[in-house]
Amino acid sequence: MNFDRYRVKPGKRVRLAKRDPSDRALFEGSKEDAVIRTMELTDRLEELQEVLYAESKQKLLIVLQGMDTAGKDGTIRLVFDGVNPSGVKVAPFKKPTEEELSHDFLWRVHKQVPGKGEIVIFNRSHYEDVLVVRVHNLVPKKIWKLRYEQIVDFERLLTDTGTKILKFFLQIDRDEQKQRLEARLAEPDKQWKFNMQDVEERKHWDAYTKAYEAALSRTSTANAPWYVIPSNQKWYRNYAIASIVVETLEEMKIRHPEADPGLATVVIE
Ligand code: AMP
Ligand code: MG
Repeated sequence: MNFDRYRVKPGKRVRLAKRDPSDRALFEGSKEDAVIRTMELTDRLEELQEVLYAESKQKLLIVLQGMDTAGKDGTIRLVFDGVNPSGVKVAPFKKPTEEELSHDFLWRVHKQVPGKGEIVIFNRSHYEDVLVVRVHNLVPKKIWKLRYEQIVDFERLLTDTGTKILKFFLQIDRDEQKQRLEARLAEPDKQWKFNMQDVEERKHWDAYTKAYEAALSRTSTANAPWYVIPSNQKWYRNYAIASIVVETLEEMKIRHPEADPGLATVVIE
């Protein structure tokens, strides 16, 4: 499968209106077929993660970003379903605390990056510092405009020191968000997810779109690429992300560590 179609080429200017959030070009079968294929992929992910953990050399960082309701939590639940929690961690980034705000914006982020053998999934990330911060003028422009380069430098530090980085923007459209918010309002088992703040943020859809376009255009690099994942259909989003994560782990050529030669002579009485 060629997921390059969703990968943002370094230096390329992203126009989200030109990308179809309902695209499903890389899966030919039915939704049911895709769900089965995704389960096979998550089984494979489970095996690969175990070897990554056993080898304890390389690191994988996955960044999830998207408008409210785009499916960041759902992706984590479905794609990383069976992995061994010892080697996988989810790091959510909320509104920064006083202490976090008193440091540089990467301080809280750097503390959460994966160590050897680990996978860390960022549910939101340092990109909020050029998204919500830019949309709501939480710091002056002269500060946030420097952050694109600071982010690229920070991610280069991570990739230079053995971390593979994958960044996914879960793209939905405005209508899809409306339907998902309405479902959260109407269905009792979804009401806990409803947040008035999301209704407020929705009013800034166009400003967020511009902020995302700037971030995607300026921070996609060969070693830390952005993928714009069509996410109006949850099954396609899960299939695409599971495929890219598995493909990436396969390319990392992780191996079980060599067994100690002495093991051959061990006798268990
Ligand atoms: P949720 O992901 O739904 O739990 O919401 C987390 C909230 O924290 C979102 O509204 C984010 O925009 C907000 N948030 C995350 N990082 C930052 C940041 N660096 N500055 C301001 N708000 C942030
Ligand atoms: Mg939310």
